[in-house]
Amino acid sequence: TDKTPLTLIGLGPMGQAMVTRLLAAGHPTTVWNRTPARADAVVARGAVRAATAADAVAANRLIVLSLTDYAAMHDILDGTDLAGRVVVNLSSDTPAETVRAAAWLAERGAELLVGGVMVPAPLVGDESAYVFYSGPREVFDRYADTLAVIGRPDYMGADHGLAQLLYQAQLDVFLTSLAAMLHATALVTSAGLTAEAYAPYLTDVVSSFAMYVAETVRHVDTGEHPGDLANVAMMGATAAHVVGASEAAGVDAGLPEAVRSLYDRAIAAGHGKDSWTALVNVLRG
Ligand code: NDP
Repeated sequence: TDKTPLTLIGLGPMGQAMVTRLLAAGHPTTVWNRTPARADAVVARGAVRAATAADAVAANRLIVLSLTDYAAMHDILDGTDLAGRVVVNLSSDTPAETVRAAAWLAERGAELLVGGVMVPAPLVGDESAYVFYSGPREVFDRYADTLAVIGRPDYMGADHGLAQLLYQAQLDVFLTSLAAMLHATALVTSAGLTAEAYAPYLTDVVSSFAMYVAETVRHVDTGEHPGDLANVAMMGATAAHVVGASEAAGVDAGLPEAVRSLYDRAIAAGHGKDSWTALVNVLRG
């Protein structure tokens, strides 16, 4: 089977988890990290420590990056010899930044495959793990077996920006939902109830979420928003009640205010009798 050697730069929790899985799968792995001590654990497991970033880049054709953002990639790779290299950048950033990075690397004779890892560090390599990729198809195909060690590789298209667009969309749902969960808990505990007492109900509402996916995507794709069950006017009135309840409880109302504003603008645009999914027209501006 495929035992492609590679270099991995960036040994935070994600990078270390990736190197651990790659070594276990038999891939000879060279590592480098700005703070050298963060390489110790994976070197003990068999990774080769490069003395400098330039040495790390020289060691292999395949260069995987797991950094805070793309600015870190520029800090590390600027001045190294990148000719003939394939850079797989699994760091978070905006789609536009990844597109700029592709051009920057192309000027230096290197190709970019952009990735977005949809799993926390302890689950890297788990069967639940998946990674969005975008960039040249043949580059993806060449390294898909190696990258599958990190998580199921899902190729989204040739436009470099796609992988981080999908990644940020997932984080959009994740971060907003986590904040909503905490906001609701703050509301409930403001009345003296424990968060524990609220737990079964919080679990209920969070688990029911997936049920709305089919309706959401159908309405968005068809552009039709029949409001038979939950229309914008009804949901908007409730959105205002969530704001009122928050203000009365002394809980920050910024999050529900943002939601109410979407409903207000949808009603003003004539969507009162449409499904709540008509909010997409406001979101798109
Ligand atoms: P960390 O913040 O722990 O690690 C970031 C890495 O980037 C470190 O190796 C750090 O080096 C390096 N770095 C940052 N800035 C620079 C710079 N200017 N020059 C050189 N090196 C730099 O992040 P994680 O390991 O948690 O995550 C890595 C990426 O994966 C991020 O983009 C994150 O969004 C993404 N991700 C993380 C998940 C998670 O659960 N943690 C889940 C999914 C994706 P040093 O050690 O010297 O500071």
